[in-house]
Amino acid sequence: MKSRFVLGAVTAMLACVQSAYAADPTEQQFRALYKELVETNTTLSSGSCTLAAERIAARLKTAGFPESDLHLFADPAHPKEGGLVAVLPGRDPKAKAILLLAHIDVVEAKREDWTRDPFTLIEEDGKFYARGVVDDKAQAAIWADSLIRFKQEGYKPRHTLKMALTCGEETAGAFNGAEWLTKNRRELIDAGYALNEGAGGELNAAGKRITMTVQAGEKVAQNYRLEVVNRGGHSSRPMKDNAIYHLAGALSKVQGYEFPIQLTDGSKGYLNAMAKIQLEAGHKEIADAMKAVVQNPGDAKAVATVSNADASWAAMLHTTCVATMLDAGHATNALPQRARANVNCRIFPGVTQETVRQALVSAINDPAVKVETLEIRGENSAPPPLTRAIMEPVEKLTAKMWPGVPVMPILQSGATDGQFLNAAGIPTYGISGIFLTPDLGNIHGLNEYIGVQSLMEGRVFLHELVKTYAEQI
Ligand SMILES: [Zn+2]
Repeated sequence: MKSRFVLGAVTAMLACVQSAYAADPTEQQFRALYKELVETNTTLSSGSCTLAAERIAARLKTAGFPESDLHLFADPAHPKEGGLVAVLPGRDPKAKAILLLAHIDVVEAKREDWTRDPFTLIEEDGKFYARGVVDDKAQAAIWADSLIRFKQEGYKPRHTLKMALTCGEETAGAFNGAEWLTKNRRELIDAGYALNEGAGGELNAAGKRITMTVQAGEKVAQNYRLEVVNRGGHSSRPMKDNAIYHLAGALSKVQGYEFPIQLTDGSKGYLNAMAKIQLEAGHKEIADAMKAVVQNPGDAKAVATVSNADASWAAMLHTTCVATMLDAGHATNALPQRARANVNCRIFPGVTQETVRQALVSAINDPAVKVETLEIRGENSAPPPLTRAIMEPVEKLTAKMWPGVPVMPILQSGATDGQFLNAAGIPTYGISGIFLTPDLGNIHGLNEYIGVQSLMEGRVFLHELVKTYAEQI
């Protein structure tokens, strides 16, 4: 009984191993690369992106990349925040390069807070656990693995393929490798367009595949300070001119102000696709309103229906600003000499920080309230055009791999390094092919995880997709 059981288990294991390798004999080398990348700590506090970049470069070199096509870079002031650009030259000198972008830095992770060591790749119950298994080392490893396989196959793409692995995406104010490349080594990353993180497959809570999203454009975060100063005085002698009241009035105006409705290719495509899903779910009123907004962004009733149904949909339609912090007064028995608020805006692609500041000034309409633009971090740029050349291969491959899953463009309310490339004139699309659960695999949080199947399918998806793009005329 016992021996039969053991034999059965061994046979099952062998079958499992055989099917995995039969399906894709290169999977083992991908797993080794992914493990090494994930286990190389790349947090800003104690890690090194430079080391991670060197390790990937070594693998590319072993696969046959000449030194001249491997460009390790680091700003001397930030020796641990380096990166890598690798080039697989194309066969058509007239075809523009395609850039594969991924960041290799990760959000901080404390061992004592995590269930498992955040810098040891652990496979458990069909999931990989560790910091960065999703964000963004999944895509970084897939890009590197693809280039290695292309080189091993002797494949020469029509378009030159470039891969940029960069540091500094996760920490506001840190050295940013993608931004640095656009300003200092533009020729290295110059491309017709770039593929990046920022979208992917969505699973519902039950694990069913719902949509495949493509990110075309993103909003830029910007803080503004509202400030009122006043000569103050004793609180027993109140005056009409009061810093807190001025500020409160200003904040009410900000609350009531709606920025104009704007649409991009990405948000139009999203609304049209979501209208179909809403109709199938029996929400005809929302579906009709979505289609109406696409036809006429001035249709206030339709805009209200869509906006009231979901805060994310509301955010997609225009710039938003919201009060996030307050700081006023200096004593309980004194008239306030100073009152301040932070207003956090998410600016629509292509709108400048100054345009938003002026809109706030005129909405507030009180000369006592000073509106100041705080440190500008994000680059603002027009969203990339959603061409058929980009969308069709995604649609075809999605239909082949996951029949029935709709492909939807999105305008991302969050921010990625795509902002720097878009601003530099390299249209950047978020495409990953990796399906995530509604919790997004706890990225940035505790016990980050990714389904092993999701990762492996994403690898197949991106490899095939890049090959299709690389051959496009
Ligand atoms: Zn992130």
